[in-house]
Formats: sequence, C-alpha cells, structure tokens
Amino acid sequence: MIACADEKDVDAAVAAARRAYETVWSKLSGTDRGKYLFRIARLIQERSRELAVAESLDNGKPIKESRDVDLPLVAAWFFYYAGWADKLDHAGLGLDPQPLGVTAQVIPWNFPLLMLAWKIAPALTAGNTVVLKPAESTSLTALLFAEIVQQADLPPGVINIITGGGDTGRLLVQHPDVNKVAFTGSTVVGREIARAVAGTQKKLTLELGGKGANIVFDDAPLDQAIEGIVNGIFFNQGHVCCAGSRLLVQEGIHDDVIERLKHRLSTLRLGDPLDKNTDIGAINSAKQLARIEALSSAGEAEGAVRWSVPCRLPPKGYWFPPTLFTGVSTHHAIAREEIFGPVLSVLTFRTPEEAIAKANNTPYGLSAGIWSDKGSRILAVADKLRAGVIWANTFNRFDPASPFGGYKESGYGREGGRHGLLAYLQPRTWTGDGPVGQRGTVKMSSVKPVKPVERSRKAARKA
Ligand code: NAD
Repeated sequence: MIACADEKDVDAAVAAARRAYETVWSKLSGTDRGKYLFRIARLIQERSRELAVAESLDNGKPIKESRDVDLPLVAAWFFYYAGWADKLDHAGLGLDPQPLGVTAQVIPWNFPLLMLAWKIAPALTAGNTVVLKPAESTSLTALLFAEIVQQADLPPGVINIITGGGDTGRLLVQHPDVNKVAFTGSTVVGREIARAVAGTQKKLTLELGGKGANIVFDDAPLDQAIEGIVNGIFFNQGHVCCAGSRLLVQEGIHDDVIERLKHRLSTLRLGDPLDKNTDIGAINSAKQLARIEALSSAGEAEGAVRWSVPCRLPPKGYWFPPTLFTGVSTHHAIAREEIFGPVLSVLTFRTPEEAIAKANNTPYGLSAGIWSDKGSRILAVADKLRAGVIWANTFNRFDPASPFGGYKESGYGREGGRHGLLAYLQPRTWTGDGPVGQRGTVKMSSVKPVKPVERSRKAARKA
C-alpha cells in the first residue's frame, strides 16, 4: 500500500517547487547547484547497497542488475550533470540559458531509480525545481531518494516526491503552475498527456514504448551476438523500453542461432531476485504478467512456434520463463506490440534491404542493434534505420553522456548528454534593458549580450 497524493497534495508540492524556484534555486550560481548535485551523487554511492536491495525488493529485478547496472548508472547520471552546472553557456543555447521553472516528472516502474535520475539530474542542473511522481508499484527508492535529498541539505522545495497512481499523475501534469512536463511510460498515456498539454505554454518531452529490432547478419561474431541477444531482451525480464524484442536473423544462420540461443537460455537461472546468482527475476505485477501471457497466447494462436526454457517457476509471485517465438511474421501481434516481458520474436531476412524494411516496419522507433563484422555495412544500415539509439555489436549500453530517445510512437525529446539539457533550458531573451531570466547572481556587467557578439563575428568575417 502506498499513499496517493490528491489535488491538495499536488497543489502543495507544486507551490513548494514554485517558491523554491523563485527564491533560491534559480538564483544560485551554476557552481553552487553543481555542488549539491555532486553531493547527491556521492550519497547515492555511499548508500548504493541499501538502494539496490530496495530496488530489487520493490521491482523484482535481480540484485546483480540493480547493484551492478542500475545504481552505478544512477550515480553516473548525477555526476555527469553536476559537471554541466557551471558550463551551461556551452549547452548550445547561447550565453546564460535560462531554466524553465517548475517541472512535473512522471516515471514508470521498470527502472525506478534510474528513470528518476534521468529526469531529476538535468532538470536541477539547469536551475529548475521538480515535482516527481514514481510509478505506484515502485515508489520505495524514490522515497529513499527523498531522504538523500534531505541528507544533502538541498533547500526545501527544490525536489518534491509525490506518490500515487494515474490520477495523481494526471493532476500533476495538468497543474496550471507547471512549466515543463517530462513523462516516461506507455504510448497510450503519453498520447493522453500530449493532448492535455496541447495549447498550453508547457514544454513536453515524452519517452515512450518500443519494439527494437536486433539485426544479426551472417558474418556476425556469433558467440558475442548470442550474448547481445540475451542481454537485449532478457535483461530486467525484458521490462526495457529499448529491448531488442524482435530478432532479425539472416536466413542462412537462423537454425544455428536458434540452437545456440536455446542452449544459452537453458543456463539462465530464474528465481529469487535477492540471490546474487539469479539472472531472471520476477515480473513486477499481476497485471504485467497477464499482458505477457495474453500476447504469448496470441503468438501461438497466430501460428508462431513457442519455445520456453523448461525451468521450474517459484510457487509464489509472478514469473514467466524466458521464451522465444520462431516463424514470426511482421503482421503478428508479437512482432508489432510491445510485450514488455522476457519474450523474443524471431524473424528472418535475406538481404540488408529486407532487414531494414522489416526493422522499420513498426509504429515505434526507439532502439535497434546491428551485428556484423563489416563496419561499412553497420554504418550503411544504421543510416537507414528509424530508431533513436542504434547499437553496433552490442546492446543495451547506457552512458549519461549519450542522448537517448525515440522517433514516431516512441516519443520525442532526448534524455542524456548535452541534448538532455536542452529539454530543461531556454535561450535567454535579450530585451536590451537587462536580463529577463531569473538568475539573481547574473550581473549585466559580467555577461556579454548575444547580439553584439554575433554582429562582431559577421563584421570580422566581412573584413
Ligand atoms: P504507464 O504509462 O502505465 O505509467 C507510467 C507512469 O505514468 C506511472 O507513474 C503511472 O502512474 C503514470 N500515469 C498513468 N496514467 C497517467 C495519466 N493519465 N496521466 C499522468 N500519469 C499517468 O507505463 P508503465 O506500465 O508504468 O511503464 C511501461 C511503459 O513505459 C512501457 O511502454 C515502456 O516502453 C515505457 N518506458 C519507456 C522508456 C523510454 O525511455 N522510452 C523507459 C522506460 C519505460
């Protein structure tokens, strides 16, 4: 059971964020904001064991993933954006870019703390304040993070965490005193939010679902590719927006790849998420398990051939064995819809052109992978794929310096890297009378106005 914030709570959180924005946070120098972010990053590292255990308990993901992947990335995200805080003049928006104000952030349950870091770190660095709502089934680590924020002695109101379900999320994103909405979650909810925000002054970024293609050519390093395929779809039980859930294998190596995959999948250990040896943890909720089961049954009904690892499932909790479907066609539901579980749909292709056409035959456009020995082929194919992130001879690699985001129904806007900052900043408006932005520490005498600089460059070029 978790408390659900109602209208009054959402109002109070937004009001606290507004006060903190206007009186403190937007007035601090970048260097000072950076110090707070560095402090948060170090506290996350100090408390990483505790956070990893809480994440696995809450979400069901294996402890070796929360310990070795989620938590190091969470700290890395805060360290990375802490470094940006005093360098915003180089973000690409001219001198002294301005924050947007109060940001409303809503995140899903698959990477609770990592999604929080992706949202909060760039927003704070840029000088915004935050009201964040974690998913209703995984709020624990966001609440522990709120403790960390207090430990780091952040001014009150800079970060506000409210818990609750879709109704609370709706109240938050529709709140009139919010300047920016950042949402990660399903495409259905993303669409609803886009409709609600349309016609307002609010800025919006959407990170939505995916149906990533993992393309394996017949010259690929196969041992490596098998590991990449497994990591691509079975990491985090397949609850990954950018999962390589569609495997496109070149026809000549199909049988070999399937045999190797079945062998490798049989070695995966499914069970207690808190056991260090566990590879596949629990499904997060009964609702998600029902969705995985329904789509898998649809796959069988449509004529695809199902193979599941013959393993014993624990009697208590929600579990689904690693599963692959062969004989899948592009029109099958399991090739089109996001299953968001440990289920791989295998399709074949003969030529690079066919691989590209099949990979792009999806309403989504978040991720793709290419496995080949030839660099030139990788570049040529990557160029034609409509996906925001494309991995070559690897999969599911994340780095705070690298932008991440989608095309088409996978959303818009980027998170990570310099691009991720742009979603939380605006160019400073120059009126000639003084700065319009909120930064109290900025003195006119110390800031070169943008227009004269541009003029002088042009003049220099002419000369
Ligand atoms: P979801 O859309 O059901 O919920 C996401 C969040 O939105 C939750 O916090 C939920 O409480 C809230 N919410 C629900 N209805 C809302 C509404 N009407 N208004 C405002 N907020 C609302 O998604 P989910 O099931 O929690 O997460 C799975 C989805 O998230 C998958 O589709 C996955 O691909 C996507 N995802 C995308 C990325 C990415 O970066 N693109 C990352 C992780 C997950």
